[in-house]
Amino acid sequence: MDSDAPEPAKSPAGGRAIYFDGTSNQRRAVTLRFADRLEIRDGDQVLAAWAYGDIRRADGPSGMLRASCLTAAALARLEIRDAAVAADLVSRSTGIDDNTPGRRGVATIVGWSLAAAVSIVAVVLFGVPLAAERLTPLVPDSFERRLGDVADRQVKAVFDAKLCDYAPGQQAFAKLVTAIREAADLDTSVQSGVLSTWVPNAFALPGGKVYLLSGLLAKAENADEIAGVLAHELGHLKHRDNMRGLIHNGGTSFLIGLLFGDITGSSALIFAARSLVTNSYTREAEQDADSFSIEIMHRLGRPTKPMGELLVRVTGKEAKGLSILSSHPLSADRLARMTREDRPASSPPLLTGEEWRALKMICSSAS
Ligand SMILES: [Zn+2]
Repeated sequence: MDSDAPEPAKSPAGGRAIYFDGTSNQRRAVTLRFADRLEIRDGDQVLAAWAYGDIRRADGPSGMLRASCLTAAALARLEIRDAAVAADLVSRSTGIDDNTPGRRGVATIVGWSLAAAVSIVAVVLFGVPLAAERLTPLVPDSFERRLGDVADRQVKAVFDAKLCDYAPGQQAFAKLVTAIREAADLDTSVQSGVLSTWVPNAFALPGGKVYLLSGLLAKAENADEIAGVLAHELGHLKHRDNMRGLIHNGGTSFLIGLLFGDITGSSALIFAARSLVTNSYTREAEQDADSFSIEIMHRLGRPTKPMGELLVRVTGKEAKGLSILSSHPLSADRLARMTREDRPASSPPLLTGEEWRALKMICSSAS
């Protein structure tokens, strides 16, 4: 045979794919090369090389092989639409259907989710707020409620949180919420509850749900502190910040979830991670919610300073960056403002001493 133009060693097969590196949400068209490892290439650059034994099948739509790698970022994915290329990869990847969790514990996945969450903050900060402003008025209530329900389930699953149900505590909580809701001129569709979790926080969800987390309740010293926080959350609700917030906050994780076809797993973790790492309401929305809270407390004839004191108590004790409250406007600034706005109580306490003690025990029967 003619040998002066030696046939190059038959180049290992390969093909085209879409690659997500798992730490940014960039979608890259890549070339796969089946060498001794699977090389993921962009032109001459090898972006990653996955050992065949570490490649696993990830959930994906039919008609596509979606693969992850045990030694890559937890959210790194390859998407291969070419059936022949997919079949070739499957034949080389001996462990592709081994669904063992391997060394990746949940903690690692949470870690990576945090990394992913942090990396998408830039998108959220620079890309989504405008979209949220424009989209929010267009979102129908029914859709908002459905999103709220999804977020509700995610939040409960992620925090492994149960709704606290000690009856006298519930009655006290309902009394407090009702007083604030009526002063806020919000209708009775507002739902609220106390969730049992150590996280010191409170939040509003689309569709009109307000949750107080028992971690915050545990740190509160009187009903005015909690009333101020609840009024703040109702302020978000009234201004539909929650919808903006979800587009803004959950929206990105829902998008990521859709991207990876994993709405229940990693995206829920991202949602939680993001919620823990950063509150995505804008500073303006936070200040407006504080203004709202101040106004409500004035209407109720109750002091505004306690909420500020609670915020400082919580953010002072928690590790920086772990509490949502810590990324609100600086607690010290908020306390200063609430102290300026403080008026001596002109109405009796919102809860009796007995009711306050019952509220503090609301999670006592939750495991
Ligand atoms: Zn807020």
